[in-house]
Amino acid sequence: MSDHGPGCGCCHRPNTRDLDEIRARIKRVYGPEERLSRRSFLKTVGAVTTTGILAGCLGASDADHERVGDATETDDTPLEIKGRLVIGEGMDVIEGTIHVEGGQISSIVEEGVESDDIVIPAFVNTHTHITDSVAKDGARARDYSWEELFIDPGLKGEYLEEADQDEKREAMHRTLQFMKETGTGTFADFKEEGIQGVKDLKVVDEGREVDAVPLFQGEYLTEDDDLRTEIKRAGGYQSYYPWDEQDERAREICDELDKVFALHSGEPGPDDIDDALALNPDYTSHMVHTREEDYEVLEDNDIGISALPRSNLVILDKLPPLERLHEHTTVALGTDNVMLNSASMLREMEFTSKLFDISPCEVLQMATINGAKLMHQADKIGSIEEGKRARLAIIDTSRELKELRDPVAGVVRRATARDVKETVLL
Ligand SMILES: [Zn+2]
Repeated sequence: MSDHGPGCGCCHRPNTRDLDEIRARIKRVYGPEERLSRRSFLKTVGAVTTTGILAGCLGASDADHERVGDATETDDTPLEIKGRLVIGEGMDVIEGTIHVEGGQISSIVEEGVESDDIVIPAFVNTHTHITDSVAKDGARARDYSWEELFIDPGLKGEYLEEADQDEKREAMHRTLQFMKETGTGTFADFKEEGIQGVKDLKVVDEGREVDAVPLFQGEYLTEDDDLRTEIKRAGGYQSYYPWDEQDERAREICDELDKVFALHSGEPGPDDIDDALALNPDYTSHMVHTREEDYEVLEDNDIGISALPRSNLVILDKLPPLERLHEHTTVALGTDNVMLNSASMLREMEFTSKLFDISPCEVLQMATINGAKLMHQADKIGSIEEGKRARLAIIDTSRELKELRDPVAGVVRRATARDVKETVLL
């Protein structure tokens, strides 16, 4: 809070009365749930491009709030976003300007610019369970076996049973906000609680910029039409071992509807892997216990992997064979249960980059374009390219990241939530 530019309203330390007033004004202007909404961001960028004044610091000044209140821009307002741009599926770094029209990247111009920002694609988190946001650090996982944590119903299930619907929705809402503030634009939630679980996440996500893709599971539906309706209402389907015939029907319906079909396998042990791969999922998750014969099956059937290294370490005290999986198929990252890990892709990237022999560029791909591929969305999101949606994380290097030699390595291995100046989600 000390080194923003002159005139920035967050540079002084407000007293309690100031804070109350600021909170009230934020509530009036942004609504109770937004810190800096898309609309206010558009206004801020408008101010930058029309006056040349850097006005983009989070916790914007009172003056900014007043301007936002008068905003006339819409989501169609053209934007120019300048900085070191990490573009294309290759995550190549250029200096230049991204032009945005109608929510899409209309052009990328390589040119000299005055900016401390690094612009990367917004993250795609391929595996969360955000309902258990109600039980953050409700257990030190090493004090429990995997079964004690998750089975019949396990400690996690007990926490979910104890919490009422409002508590779950409020906790999920906070996680969505946190995801945005840490650069995430899209996530696949391996939904608990069947039809109601999907509905609850849809309610929480309604009108918000982070795209939640709930994967339906947990309720047996005998009729294909009912199953089709629920998969359509969600964004796909997910399952746990032991599989049943509903999983096979869901596989076919997901194909028919172009929806995501994803599984868990190879987490506490390898016993479920054969049957999981036989279902030919778009991706399966964990695969800590991948066996030699599995690599060829993954590669031949183009089955992707959602790797969850922080989760695996905290729950199993093991890691997935990430380098080998990466050699054979598309690997993306996920953060798994909020109960045990924050839903921060920044943390997942740093952890992955430091534990495995995988380049920072490849780790960034795992956190962005690879996830978009596994979730059938690579034509729209996951990389900065003309024609894709403008879904970007803007990283401020004017503070701790000032002396970065390598922008991609710096973002992957060092950036924190504090460095995320804005997540643009159009
Ligand atoms: Zn899971």
